[in-house]
Amino acid sequence: MIKLNWKRLLIAALLLLLFLLLLRGLFFACRAKEAPPYSLEFVSEPERMLSLYLHREKKSVNLELEEYIVGVVASEMPASFKPEALKAQAVASRTYALRRLLKGGCSQGCDLCSSSSCCQAYKTDAELKKTWGGKYSENLAKISEAVESTKDEALYYNGELIEALYHAASGGYTEDSENVFKAAEPYLRSVKSENEEGSKYLTSSTRLSRKAFVKAVNGAWPSAKLKASALESQVKILSRFESGRVERIKLGEAEATGRELRGLLELKSAWFTLEFTKTDAIFHTRGFGHGVGMSQAGANGMAAKGAGYKEILSHYYTGATISR
Ligand SMILES: [Zn+2]
Repeated sequence: MIKLNWKRLLIAALLLLLFLLLLRGLFFACRAKEAPPYSLEFVSEPERMLSLYLHREKKSVNLELEEYIVGVVASEMPASFKPEALKAQAVASRTYALRRLLKGGCSQGCDLCSSSSCCQAYKTDAELKKTWGGKYSENLAKISEAVESTKDEALYYNGELIEALYHAASGGYTEDSENVFKAAEPYLRSVKSENEEGSKYLTSSTRLSRKAFVKAVNGAWPSAKLKASALESQVKILSRFESGRVERIKLGEAEATGRELRGLLELKSAWFTLEFTKTDAIFHTRGFGHGVGMSQAGANGMAAKGAGYKEILSHYYTGATISR
């Protein structure tokens, strides 16, 4: 009798265990189907293709996200940069692309496009072969390694993908996002960017004739009424942001932002001083680009001093975390 009960008890216990395991499986299967804050399903579906509009070839192609990221990193950062800087770029570029995709894609009617002024720069394999020549295989292997080793990793703040902006060189300090763009993002704060010494963009200058300067400014702001002979008294930097970039500048009877003048004269950055010679106007600039987010030159400098890509990313994207 007792023996029989034990057997029954054992069978009942096993059945109960099986039932519990089944319930647990069902629970997790349902949970996996729940949408995260942003629907990121395609991150875990490597076969998911995206459509990319190629501006130079005037056509669209379909390719895998990670394959696309290789072409972006190859176009947005020199292949000669340190591996950890390339990895930081891969994560930033992936984050930027994912956020763009989840916000409805690009204005070209595709998911993304190959223009850096709209989405991110992207070169096709044929273009990379042309650009890199004999270094094609070596460079491609280096960049592919940076992308593969950070596969699916993206930057988040409060559970949302961040706007992972980046630029070539900051000149010493990056910029608060609201000083360049509309939104004040908590993770896009001005930070010190040391280690840019090796960059050709740390300091540079743009020279144009006094006449050309006057023509451009009066063309853009007719109320300025600049005169080539009176620039010393007519032009004055009125204010700078804490970073050093020009906030407002007086141009004769008109006033402009440093960013507007940078755009008009295609200056490398809005962090400049202005010098007039007898014949010319010379802008001495620091850095290259808008200055918001990660400085690529700074990332490379940090990598050269032994920093890993995660350290680089958390330096430039305040409070952001990396997850898959
Ligand atoms: Zn685009």
